[in-house]
Amino acid sequence: MVKFNEAAVRMFQNIFICKRCKHKIRAPSLKVVQGKISCRFCKSKSLRPKRKK
Ligand SMILES: [Zn+2]
Repeated sequence: MVKFNEAAVRMFQNIFICKRCKHKIRAPSLKVVQGKISCRFCKSKSLRPKRKK
């Protein structure tokens, strides 16, 4: 169960979607919040977490 939990965190928590080109970006959420991550396809900084709501 612990392993599954870790996997779930890895799969969902660190994945963001670019709002502009809808590409998936894997990055630590901390860095995304700090604005250090930008989409590598369109250079946009508007990302949202993968999970809705
Ligand atoms: Zn993008």
